[in-house]
Amino acid sequence: MARREKDTRLYDILGVNPEANDAELKKAYRKMAMKYHPDKNPDSGDKFKEISFAYDVLSDPEKRSTYDRYGEKGLREGAGGGGSGFDADLFSQIFGGGLFGGFGSSFADGGGRSRRQQKKGGDLTHDLKVSLRDLYNGRTARLQVTRNAICTACKGKGAKSGATRPCNACDGNGVRIFLRQIGIGMIQQVRAKCSDCNGEGVVIRERDRCRGCQGRKVVKQNKKIEVHVDKGMTDGQKISFRGEGDQEPDGEPGDVFITLRLTKHDMFHRQGNDLHIQKSVSLPEALCGCAFNIVHLDERQLLVNTCEGQVITPGSQFVIEGEGMPHYRSPFEKGNLLVKFDVVFPPNGFQSAAQLKVLESHLPPRLTPAATASGLGEDTEEVVLLEFDKEAHGRSRHSSSSHRAAYRGAGSDEEDDDDQPTVSCAQQ
Ligand SMILES: [Zn+2]
Ligand SMILES: [Zn+2]
Repeated sequence: MARREKDTRLYDILGVNPEANDAELKKAYRKMAMKYHPDKNPDSGDKFKEISFAYDVLSDPEKRSTYDRYGEKGLREGAGGGGSGFDADLFSQIFGGGLFGGFGSSFADGGGRSRRQQKKGGDLTHDLKVSLRDLYNGRTARLQVTRNAICTACKGKGAKSGATRPCNACDGNGVRIFLRQIGIGMIQQVRAKCSDCNGEGVVIRERDRCRGCQGRKVVKQNKKIEVHVDKGMTDGQKISFRGEGDQEPDGEPGDVFITLRLTKHDMFHRQGNDLHIQKSVSLPEALCGCAFNIVHLDERQLLVNTCEGQVITPGSQFVIEGEGMPHYRSPFEKGNLLVKFDVVFPPNGFQSAAQLKVLESHLPPRLTPAATASGLGEDTEEVVLLEFDKEAHGRSRHSSSSHRAAYRGAGSDEEDDDDQPTVSCAQQ
Protein backbone atom coordinates (compact mmCIF):
# COMPACT_ATOMS: atom_id res chain seq x y z
CA MET A 1 0.00 0.00 0.00
CA ALA A 2 1.31 3.43 -0.93
CA ARG A 3 2.18 5.52 2.09
CA ARG A 4 0.80 8.98 2.06
CA GLU A 5 2.40 12.10 3.47
CA LYS A 6 2.19 10.89 7.02
CA ASP A 7 2.54 11.54 10.68
CA THR A 8 5.87 10.18 11.93
CA ARG A 9 5.97 11.82 15.34
CA LEU A 10 5.92 8.53 17.24
CA TYR A 11 8.90 7.27 15.26
CA ASP A 12 10.66 10.55 15.92
CA ILE A 13 10.11 10.23 19.65
CA LEU A 14 11.95 6.92 19.65
CA GLY A 15 14.54 8.24 17.19
CA VAL A 16 13.94 5.57 14.56
CA ASN A 17 12.87 5.79 10.96
CA PRO A 18 9.38 4.70 9.89
CA GLU A 19 10.66 1.52 8.31
CA ALA A 20 12.28 0.29 11.52
CA ASN A 21 11.71 -3.37 12.33
CA ASP A 22 10.59 -4.71 15.68
CA ALA A 23 14.08 -5.35 16.99
CA GLU A 24 15.17 -1.85 16.11
CA LEU A 25 12.10 -0.39 17.79
CA LYS A 26 12.68 -2.38 20.93
CA LYS A 27 16.30 -1.40 21.12
CA ALA A 28 15.48 2.25 20.62
CA TYR A 29 12.75 2.10 23.22
CA ARG A 30 15.00 0.52 25.87
CA LYS A 31 17.64 3.13 25.30
CA MET A 32 15.20 6.05 25.51
CA ALA A 33 13.29 4.60 28.43
CA MET A 34 16.48 4.15 30.46
CA LYS A 35 17.51 7.67 29.72
CA TYR A 36 14.17 9.26 30.60
CA HIS A 37 12.92 6.98 33.33
CA PRO A 38 11.47 9.07 36.16
CA ASP A 39 13.77 7.34 38.69
CA LYS A 40 16.78 8.77 36.97
CA ASN A 41 15.26 11.82 35.50
CA PRO A 42 12.43 13.07 37.74
CA ASP A 43 11.78 16.15 35.63
CA SER A 44 11.10 14.32 32.42
CA GLY A 45 8.01 12.38 33.38
CA ASP A 46 6.04 13.55 30.39
CA LYS A 47 8.82 12.64 28.02
CA PHE A 48 8.89 9.16 29.49
CA LYS A 49 5.16 8.80 29.00
CA GLU A 50 5.50 9.84 25.39
CA ILE A 51 8.19 7.25 24.84
CA SER A 52 6.06 4.56 26.42
CA PHE A 53 3.08 5.60 24.35
CA ALA A 54 5.07 5.61 21.12
CA TYR A 55 6.48 2.19 21.81
CA ASP A 56 3.13 0.79 22.77
CA VAL A 57 1.65 1.84 19.48
CA LEU A 58 4.57 0.90 17.25
CA SER A 59 5.25 -2.46 18.87
CA ASP A 60 1.71 -3.60 18.18
CA PRO A 61 1.27 -4.49 14.50
CA GLU A 62 -2.37 -3.57 14.48
CA LYS A 63 -1.91 -0.24 16.16
CA ARG A 64 1.16 0.51 14.11
CA SER A 65 -0.78 -0.16 10.96
CA THR A 66 -3.57 2.16 12.07
CA TYR A 67 -1.05 4.82 13.00
CA ASP A 68 0.79 4.48 9.70
CA ARG A 69 -2.42 4.84 7.80
CA TYR A 70 -4.28 7.47 9.77
CA GLY A 71 -1.81 9.05 12.16
CA GLU A 72 -2.44 9.77 15.84
CA LYS A 73 -5.83 11.17 15.04
CA GLY A 74 -6.76 7.72 13.77
CA LEU A 75 -5.62 6.15 17.03
CA ARG A 76 -7.77 8.52 19.02
CA GLU A 77 -10.92 8.59 16.98
CA GLY A 78 -11.27 5.45 15.03
CA ALA A 79 -9.76 6.08 11.65
CA GLY A 80 -11.78 5.86 8.51
CA GLY A 81 -14.84 4.85 10.47
CA GLY A 82 -18.06 6.71 10.64
CA GLY A 83 -17.13 8.04 14.06
CA SER A 84 -19.75 5.90 15.72
CA GLY A 85 -17.66 2.77 15.45
CA PHE A 86 -16.97 2.32 19.15
CA ASP A 87 -18.36 -0.83 20.53
CA ALA A 88 -19.58 -0.94 24.09
CA ASP A 89 -16.75 -3.38 24.30
CA LEU A 90 -13.98 -1.17 25.58
CA PHE A 91 -11.61 -1.25 28.38
CA SER A 92 -9.04 1.08 29.72
CA GLN A 93 -5.66 0.49 31.08
CA ILE A 94 -3.45 2.59 33.24
CA PHE A 95 -0.43 3.36 31.21
CA GLY A 96 3.13 4.42 31.95
CA GLY A 97 4.04 1.97 34.70
CA GLY A 98 6.86 -0.53 34.31
CA LEU A 99 9.82 -0.16 32.05
CA PHE A 100 8.97 -2.88 29.61
CA GLY A 101 5.43 -3.50 30.63
CA GLY A 102 3.77 -3.05 27.30
CA PHE A 103 0.21 -3.85 26.56
CA GLY A 104 -0.91 -7.40 26.66
CA SER A 105 -2.06 -9.19 23.57
CA SER A 106 -5.46 -10.11 24.87
CA PHE A 107 -7.08 -8.64 21.82
CA ALA A 108 -5.08 -10.43 19.19
CA ASP A 109 -6.67 -12.03 16.16
CA GLY A 110 -7.95 -15.08 17.96
CA GLY A 111 -10.01 -13.02 20.37
CA GLY A 112 -11.58 -11.11 17.54
CA ARG A 113 -12.56 -14.21 15.65
CA SER A 114 -14.14 -16.05 18.54
CA ARG A 115 -16.12 -12.93 19.28
CA ARG A 116 -17.43 -12.87 15.75
CA GLN A 117 -18.59 -16.44 16.00
CA GLN A 118 -20.78 -15.48 18.94
CA LYS A 119 -22.62 -12.95 16.82
CA LYS A 120 -26.36 -12.98 17.24
CA GLY A 121 -29.02 -11.61 14.94
CA GLY A 122 -31.16 -8.69 16.00
CA ASP A 123 -34.12 -9.14 18.34
CA LEU A 124 -37.49 -7.94 17.13
CA THR A 125 -40.07 -6.48 19.48
CA HIS A 126 -43.75 -6.01 18.80
CA ASP A 127 -46.77 -4.98 20.82
CA LEU A 128 -49.98 -6.99 20.70
CA LYS A 129 -53.21 -5.36 21.81
CA VAL A 130 -55.34 -7.68 23.88
CA SER A 131 -58.68 -7.24 25.60
CA LEU A 132 -59.57 -8.45 29.06
CA ARG A 133 -61.71 -11.08 27.34
CA ASP A 134 -58.59 -12.36 25.58
CA LEU A 135 -56.76 -12.66 28.87
CA TYR A 136 -59.75 -14.35 30.51
CA ASN A 137 -60.50 -16.83 27.75
CA GLY A 138 -57.14 -17.17 26.04
CA ARG A 139 -56.63 -16.41 22.37
CA THR A 140 -54.36 -17.19 19.48
CA ALA A 141 -53.21 -14.20 17.48
CA ARG A 142 -51.36 -14.30 14.20
CA LEU A 143 -48.75 -11.67 13.62
CA GLN A 144 -46.48 -10.96 10.72
CA VAL A 145 -42.95 -9.84 11.46
CA THR A 146 -40.38 -8.65 8.97
CA ARG A 147 -36.96 -10.01 9.65
CA ASN A 148 -33.60 -10.54 8.01
CA ALA A 149 -33.34 -14.05 6.60
CA ILE A 150 -30.21 -15.63 5.23
CA CYS A 151 -30.14 -15.22 1.45
CA THR A 152 -30.89 -18.56 -0.14
CA ALA A 153 -29.20 -17.65 -3.44
CA CYS A 154 -25.74 -17.41 -1.85
CA LYS A 155 -26.50 -19.31 1.37
CA GLY A 156 -25.48 -16.28 3.36
CA LYS A 157 -22.06 -15.90 1.77
CA GLY A 158 -22.88 -12.73 -0.11
CA ALA A 159 -20.86 -13.94 -3.11
CA LYS A 160 -19.50 -17.00 -4.82
CA SER A 161 -17.04 -18.65 -2.50
CA GLY A 162 -13.55 -17.29 -2.92
CA ALA A 163 -14.82 -13.96 -4.17
CA THR A 164 -13.94 -12.23 -0.95
CA ARG A 165 -10.74 -10.51 0.02
CA PRO A 166 -9.48 -9.50 3.45
CA CYS A 167 -10.53 -6.06 4.54
CA ASN A 168 -7.70 -3.55 4.22
CA ALA A 169 -8.88 -1.26 6.95
CA CYS A 170 -8.61 -3.86 9.70
CA ASP A 171 -6.21 -6.31 8.04
CA GLY A 172 -8.93 -8.90 8.14
CA ASN A 173 -9.40 -8.74 11.89
CA GLY A 174 -12.85 -7.25 11.85
CA VAL A 175 -11.87 -4.98 14.73
CA ARG A 176 -9.58 -2.05 15.11
CA ILE A 177 -7.86 -0.91 18.27
CA PHE A 178 -7.62 2.76 18.99
CA LEU A 179 -5.93 4.59 21.80
CA ARG A 180 -7.45 7.55 23.48
CA GLN A 181 -5.73 9.71 26.00
CA ILE A 182 -8.18 10.23 28.85
CA GLY A 183 -5.90 12.01 31.28
CA ILE A 184 -2.26 12.51 32.06
CA GLY A 185 -0.61 9.15 31.75
CA MET A 186 -3.94 7.46 31.17
CA ILE A 187 -4.59 5.85 27.88
CA GLN A 188 -7.80 4.14 27.06
CA GLN A 189 -7.71 1.36 24.54
CA VAL A 190 -10.83 1.22 22.52
CA ARG A 191 -11.71 -1.76 20.48
CA ALA A 192 -14.16 -1.02 17.74
CA LYS A 193 -15.85 -3.03 15.08
CA CYS A 194 -14.34 -2.23 11.69
CA SER A 195 -16.81 -0.11 9.78
CA ASP A 196 -15.37 -0.92 6.35
CA CYS A 197 -16.24 -4.60 6.56
CA ASN A 198 -18.85 -4.39 9.33
CA GLY A 199 -16.66 -6.57 11.52
CA GLU A 200 -16.49 -9.38 8.98
CA GLY A 201 -12.79 -9.05 8.26
CA VAL A 202 -13.50 -9.64 4.59
CA VAL A 203 -15.10 -7.57 1.87
CA ILE A 204 -16.67 -8.60 -1.42
CA ARG A 205 -15.77 -6.91 -4.67
CA GLU A 206 -18.75 -5.17 -6.15
CA ARG A 207 -18.87 -7.30 -9.32
CA ASP A 208 -18.86 -10.52 -7.28
CA ARG A 209 -21.77 -9.63 -5.07
CA CYS A 210 -24.76 -11.98 -4.95
CA ARG A 211 -27.64 -10.57 -6.93
CA GLY A 212 -30.20 -11.95 -4.53
CA CYS A 213 -28.96 -9.90 -1.59
CA GLN A 214 -26.53 -7.39 -3.18
CA GLY A 215 -23.82 -8.96 -1.06
CA ARG A 216 -25.66 -8.24 2.18
CA LYS A 217 -26.02 -11.98 2.89
CA VAL A 218 -29.52 -11.47 4.22
CA VAL A 219 -32.82 -10.49 2.64
CA LYS A 220 -36.02 -9.13 4.16
CA GLN A 221 -38.55 -11.82 4.87
CA ASN A 222 -42.10 -11.68 6.16
CA LYS A 223 -42.67 -14.32 8.74
CA LYS A 224 -45.96 -15.26 10.35
CA ILE A 225 -45.90 -16.14 13.98
CA GLU A 226 -48.68 -17.48 16.16
CA VAL A 227 -48.95 -15.88 19.53
CA HIS A 228 -50.73 -17.95 22.14
CA VAL A 229 -52.22 -15.61 24.67
CA ASP A 230 -52.79 -17.88 27.64
CA LYS A 231 -55.52 -17.46 30.19
CA GLY A 232 -54.44 -15.25 33.03
CA MET A 233 -51.61 -13.49 31.23
CA THR A 234 -51.04 -9.89 32.23
CA ASP A 235 -50.70 -6.49 30.67
CA GLY A 236 -47.05 -5.93 29.72
CA GLN A 237 -46.19 -9.64 29.77
CA LYS A 238 -43.63 -10.63 27.16
CA ILE A 239 -43.92 -13.72 25.03
CA SER A 240 -40.67 -14.72 23.38
CA PHE A 241 -39.98 -16.67 20.24
CA ARG A 242 -36.46 -17.99 20.30
CA GLY A 243 -34.64 -17.80 17.02
CA GLU A 244 -37.48 -16.11 15.12
CA GLY A 245 -35.69 -12.75 14.94
CA ASP A 246 -33.10 -11.64 12.42
CA GLN A 247 -30.99 -14.46 11.05
CA GLU A 248 -27.26 -13.99 11.17
CA PRO A 249 -24.98 -15.60 8.57
CA ASP A 250 -22.18 -16.42 11.02
CA GLY A 251 -24.13 -16.68 14.21
CA GLU A 252 -27.36 -17.58 15.87
CA PRO A 253 -30.60 -15.86 15.00
CA GLY A 254 -32.15 -13.24 17.22
CA ASP A 255 -35.43 -13.59 19.09
CA VAL A 256 -38.87 -12.07 18.75
CA PHE A 257 -40.54 -10.54 21.79
CA ILE A 258 -44.25 -9.82 21.83
CA THR A 259 -45.47 -7.52 24.57
CA LEU A 260 -49.14 -7.72 25.54
CA ARG A 261 -50.90 -4.38 25.82
CA LEU A 262 -54.23 -4.53 27.57
CA THR A 263 -57.04 -2.33 26.30
CA LYS A 264 -59.56 -0.90 28.75
CA HIS A 265 -62.77 -2.75 29.44
CA ASP A 266 -66.03 -0.88 29.95
CA MET A 267 -67.11 -2.79 33.00
CA PHE A 268 -64.35 -4.94 34.43
CA HIS A 269 -61.17 -3.61 35.91
CA ARG A 270 -58.41 -6.04 36.78
CA GLN A 271 -56.19 -5.95 39.85
CA GLY A 272 -53.89 -8.95 40.06
CA ASN A 273 -56.17 -11.94 39.73
CA ASP A 274 -59.22 -10.06 40.98
CA LEU A 275 -61.79 -8.33 38.87
CA HIS A 276 -63.58 -5.22 40.03
CA ILE A 277 -66.88 -3.78 38.91
CA GLN A 278 -68.97 -0.83 40.00
CA LYS A 279 -72.70 -1.33 40.46
CA SER A 280 -75.34 1.30 41.02
CA VAL A 281 -78.47 0.34 42.94
CA SER A 282 -81.44 2.45 43.89
CA LEU A 283 -82.19 3.34 47.49
CA PRO A 284 -85.05 0.81 47.73
CA GLU A 285 -82.71 -1.87 46.35
CA ALA A 286 -80.03 -0.87 48.80
CA LEU A 287 -82.45 -1.14 51.72
CA CYS A 288 -84.73 -3.95 50.65
CA GLY A 289 -82.47 -6.14 48.59
CA CYS A 290 -81.85 -6.54 44.92
CA ALA A 291 -81.09 -8.97 42.15
CA PHE A 292 -79.10 -8.22 39.01
CA ASN A 293 -77.19 -9.86 36.18
CA ILE A 294 -73.52 -9.62 35.37
CA VAL A 295 -72.49 -10.71 31.90
CA HIS A 296 -69.08 -12.21 32.48
CA LEU A 297 -66.04 -12.11 30.17
CA ASP A 298 -66.93 -15.54 28.81
CA GLU A 299 -70.55 -14.48 28.16
CA ARG A 300 -71.93 -16.38 31.16
CA GLN A 301 -74.73 -14.59 32.97
CA LEU A 302 -74.20 -14.39 36.67
CA LEU A 303 -77.33 -13.83 38.69
CA VAL A 304 -76.55 -11.92 41.85
CA ASN A 305 -79.00 -11.80 44.74
CA THR A 306 -78.45 -9.85 47.90
CA CYS A 307 -79.44 -11.62 51.06
CA GLU A 308 -82.56 -10.59 52.89
CA GLY A 309 -81.85 -7.86 55.37
CA GLN A 310 -78.46 -7.11 53.79
CA VAL A 311 -78.26 -3.33 53.52
CA ILE A 312 -76.00 -1.88 50.87
CA THR A 313 -74.34 1.34 51.92
CA PRO A 314 -72.78 3.73 49.40
CA GLY A 315 -69.23 2.68 48.59
CA SER A 316 -69.54 -0.73 50.22
CA GLN A 317 -67.80 -3.65 48.59
CA PHE A 318 -68.95 -7.23 48.21
CA VAL A 319 -67.15 -10.22 46.84
CA ILE A 320 -68.18 -13.07 44.57
CA GLU A 321 -65.57 -15.72 45.15
CA GLY A 322 -63.98 -17.56 42.26
CA GLU A 323 -65.31 -15.24 39.55
CA GLY A 324 -62.10 -13.29 39.03
CA MET A 325 -59.35 -13.88 36.49
CA PRO A 326 -57.99 -17.37 35.88
CA HIS A 327 -54.49 -17.78 37.31
CA TYR A 328 -51.77 -17.88 34.69
CA ARG A 329 -50.62 -21.47 34.13
CA SER A 330 -53.26 -22.70 36.57
CA PRO A 331 -56.44 -21.47 34.87
CA PHE A 332 -58.85 -23.55 36.91
CA GLU A 333 -57.96 -21.46 39.89
CA LYS A 334 -59.51 -18.05 39.78
CA GLY A 335 -59.40 -14.80 41.66
CA ASN A 336 -62.46 -13.04 43.02
CA LEU A 337 -64.96 -10.62 41.60
CA LEU A 338 -65.39 -7.56 43.75
CA VAL A 339 -68.51 -5.45 43.45
CA LYS A 340 -68.45 -1.89 44.71
CA PHE A 341 -71.85 -0.33 45.17
CA ASP A 342 -73.06 3.10 44.54
CA VAL A 343 -76.48 3.93 45.97
CA VAL A 344 -78.66 6.24 43.90
CA PHE A 345 -80.94 8.22 46.17
CA PRO A 346 -84.27 9.56 44.92
CA PRO A 347 -83.20 12.68 43.00
CA ASN A 348 -85.99 14.92 44.26
CA GLY A 349 -86.30 13.70 47.79
CA PHE A 350 -89.71 12.52 48.96
CA GLN A 351 -92.62 14.50 47.67
CA SER A 352 -95.12 14.35 50.43
CA ALA A 353 -95.03 14.51 54.19
CA ALA A 354 -97.36 11.52 54.24
CA GLN A 355 -94.82 9.40 52.34
CA LEU A 356 -92.15 10.43 54.79
CA LYS A 357 -94.29 9.52 57.74
CA VAL A 358 -94.85 6.05 56.32
CA LEU A 359 -91.19 5.66 55.59
CA GLU A 360 -90.15 6.84 58.99
CA SER A 361 -92.49 4.44 60.68
CA HIS A 362 -90.42 1.59 59.21
CA LEU A 363 -87.05 3.03 60.10
CA PRO A 364 -85.16 3.15 63.38
CA PRO A 365 -86.00 6.23 65.45
CA ARG A 366 -84.28 9.49 64.63
CA LEU A 367 -81.86 10.90 67.16
CA THR A 368 -82.59 14.31 68.54
CA PRO A 369 -79.55 16.38 69.43
CA ALA A 370 -79.30 17.56 73.02
CA ALA A 371 -79.17 21.21 72.04
CA THR A 372 -82.55 21.07 70.34
CA ALA A 373 -84.13 19.15 73.16
CA SER A 374 -83.18 21.74 75.74
CA GLY A 375 -83.80 24.74 73.52
CA LEU A 376 -81.12 27.11 72.23
CA GLY A 377 -78.78 27.92 75.06
CA GLU A 378 -76.33 30.80 75.52
CA ASP A 379 -73.49 29.13 73.70
CA THR A 380 -75.50 27.23 71.12
CA GLU A 381 -75.95 28.69 67.71
CA GLU A 382 -78.04 27.44 64.91
CA VAL A 383 -76.41 27.43 61.46
CA VAL A 384 -77.52 26.80 57.90
CA LEU A 385 -76.57 23.64 56.09
CA LEU A 386 -76.30 24.37 52.38
CA GLU A 387 -75.58 22.10 49.54
CA PHE A 388 -71.93 22.40 48.71
CA ASP A 389 -71.29 24.01 45.36
CA LYS A 390 -67.64 23.57 44.60
CA GLU A 391 -67.48 26.53 42.23
CA ALA A 392 -69.23 29.02 44.43
CA HIS A 393 -67.65 27.91 47.69
CA GLY A 394 -64.20 27.48 46.25
CA ARG A 395 -64.16 31.13 45.16
CA SER A 396 -65.52 32.97 48.18
CA ARG A 397 -64.96 30.92 51.19
CA HIS A 398 -65.55 33.76 53.68
CA SER A 399 -68.84 35.16 52.49
CA SER A 400 -71.17 32.34 53.45
CA SER A 401 -74.23 33.38 55.40
CA SER A 402 -73.39 31.07 58.23
CA HIS A 403 -70.10 32.85 58.63
CA ARG A 404 -71.79 36.23 58.65
CA ALA A 405 -74.27 34.94 61.18
CA ALA A 406 -71.51 33.64 63.35
CA TYR A 407 -69.73 36.97 63.21
CA ARG A 408 -72.81 38.92 64.14
CA GLY A 409 -73.88 36.49 66.78
CA ALA A 410 -70.56 36.92 68.49
CA GLY A 411 -70.46 40.69 68.35
CA SER A 412 -73.97 42.05 68.94
CA ASP A 413 -77.11 41.36 70.89
CA GLU A 414 -79.37 42.72 68.19
CA GLU A 415 -82.13 40.25 67.37
CA ASP A 416 -83.91 40.40 64.03
CA ASP A 417 -86.41 37.66 63.32
CA ASP A 418 -86.22 37.98 59.54
CA ASP A 419 -82.53 37.43 59.51
CA GLN A 420 -82.55 34.69 62.07
CA PRO A 421 -80.70 31.74 60.60
CA THR A 422 -82.80 28.63 60.55
CA VAL A 423 -81.94 25.08 59.95
CA SER A 424 -83.32 23.98 56.64
CA CYS A 425 -83.39 20.28 56.05
CA ALA A 426 -84.37 18.05 53.20
CA GLN A 427 -88.08 18.69 52.81
CA GLN A 428 -88.48 22.04 51.03
ZN1 LIG B 1 -27.16 -13.61 -1.52
ZN1 LIG C 1 -12.42 -4.38 8.15
